[in-house]
Amino acid sequence: MTTKPRTIQRLVEPQLTSDGAGVRLRRSIASARLDYLDPFLLLDEFRSDDPDDYIAGFPMHPHRGIETVTYMIAGEVNHRDTLGNSGTIGPGDVQWMTAGRAIMHEEMPAQRDGLLHGYQLWVNLPARDKMMPPRYQDITAARIPEITRHNVTVRVITGTVDGVQGPVTDIIANPTYLDVSMPANSRFAQPIPRGHTAFAYVFQGQGIFGIVGTKDGTPIVSPTLAILSDGDRIEVRTTDHPARFLLVSGKPIGEPIARYGPFVMNTREEIQQTLQELRDGTFIPKPA
Ligand code: MN
Repeated sequence: MTTKPRTIQRLVEPQLTSDGAGVRLRRSIASARLDYLDPFLLLDEFRSDDPDDYIAGFPMHPHRGIETVTYMIAGEVNHRDTLGNSGTIGPGDVQWMTAGRAIMHEEMPAQRDGLLHGYQLWVNLPARDKMMPPRYQDITAARIPEITRHNVTVRVITGTVDGVQGPVTDIIANPTYLDVSMPANSRFAQPIPRGHTAFAYVFQGQGIFGIVGTKDGTPIVSPTLAILSDGDRIEVRTTDHPARFLLVSGKPIGEPIARYGPFVMNTREEIQQTLQELRDGTFIPKPA
């Protein structure tokens, strides 16, 4: 079987925006330029050493119909939720939360100053799983395998690299989520299943993405979201700068979406029903 290298289909410049109780962030999916990249509903980067940008955090709020994935690079976030989970997400840690039918949670900075740098990705759930019981995978940095291949370091959060599987498992979109660090003058290639949506979020340095044989790829400078064309693999090289990027892929769902803030369902009626449950106080079922 022949393989087809992926190229760069589109570049999206992240937009500065504010969310939660006033957190400044860079949004590249769920923005005016890119509403939805099936199955990915939102991608935010929070990255600042000014506490005014992050101190307000994300006080208690609900979710339904999606999964939220928080990955920290620097700094710490405290969280707690209506499942009874609580803790701190620190550098290199991942929290993969499946909201399913209902969850309420808060995500607040655990620090008063210093750099806070991390990512939140929202992954859609198909209609048959939107009302599944909520679920939570908390993965500390030490459990995330780090692979070195020709001086390129890959942290494997979910998916498989060189036969090494990441610790986040059983996710419906069958995603890959890698944190790739390339020094200057290096090369990196990674298989990505054909038919899966894939993007690279370049957040440090610059690289050339989507090399096809002897045909060079597209130069990408951070911060940029690069949507990849379909194919079996992606090839990247760096020149005189290093590059660091998230490489994420997942199986598209192909269903209509109805989105309202932290809720993503298939129809307006399901959103109305969700808002009704919040008014009634039945959104989170009372313990039996
Ligand atoms: Mn949330």
